[in-house]
Amino acid sequence: MSQLLAGKTAVILGVANRWSIAYAIADAYRREGAKLILTYQGERQKATVEELGAELGAAKVLNCDVTKAEELEGLVAELAGETLHAVVHSIAFANREDLSRPFLETSRDGYLLAQEVSSYSLVSVSRALSPLMTEGGSIMTLTYLGSVRVIPNYNVMGVAKAALEACVRYLASDLGAKGIRVNAISAGPIKTASARGIKDFSKVLDGVAAVAPLKRNTETAEVADTAVFLGSALGRGVTGNVIYVDAGFQVMGLQQPE
Ligand code: NAP
Repeated sequence: MSQLLAGKTAVILGVANRWSIAYAIADAYRREGAKLILTYQGERQKATVEELGAELGAAKVLNCDVTKAEELEGLVAELAGETLHAVVHSIAFANREDLSRPFLETSRDGYLLAQEVSSYSLVSVSRALSPLMTEGGSIMTLTYLGSVRVIPNYNVMGVAKAALEACVRYLASDLGAKGIRVNAISAGPIKTASARGIKDFSKVLDGVAAVAPLKRNTETAEVADTAVFLGSALGRGVTGNVIYVDAGFQVMGLQQPE
């Protein structure tokens, strides 16, 4: 098969390490011939992401903390002259204590922080980068089932993901006339650095593998291939959607006893 993303330039936000979902997406985009631009959050991550970027053949590796307006402006300045075709937003954050105590105990600051990093940033990133998508393109974000169902300890992040999914719909409506599609991929649980912050996360992995129609957990490469679909011409009719890549878990109600 020909390379699905040949001639396309993608900005991928959220590579922290080799286990990041964004890393798998960057690797799949590389495989499909895209020109890659990666971002990292602050000096602490610079060397690691530059090293990963070099392995992936990234054209640029740039700093951008999405909560800082001046860093988003700096990113846009660094991208001057580029035509972007895909933007992958693979970013989320909540205070660890908000992912272990009852949701009822969520503080105002913790609530706002989760919303700012995990939901509002899709709006600010889309506003900043969509003017560079002059040939149309695809913006995508990563979400989780905790947006629509109660998942133990997901708490404030579930509420942020609900807002994120609503942002996807409104952004799809705003940007559709420019030929820019906006979608979310709802991934099944995957052991990454962020996921380790959720109390009892390994119990969620075990539960999903037992119940999901495919009787296993989700692999990052499966999420990445869906990101390729959305970023390529194959996804040209799809916008405003949440696509589940979760071994089918979300369709299950009651599990029949064996
Ligand atoms: P990850 O490797 O820890 O990626 C999260 C990324 O968000 C990191 O690169 C992190 O950078 C970045 N980030 C946090 N705050 C930021 C900020 N202010 N500015 C810029 N970047 C920031 O974990 P992941 O599991 O791949 O998460 C990626 C996305 O997938 C998240 O939206 C997550 O909610 C979603 N998701 C994950 C799962 C799962 O089970 N793992 C399932 C469904 C959806 P630093 O490391 O530098 O802080």
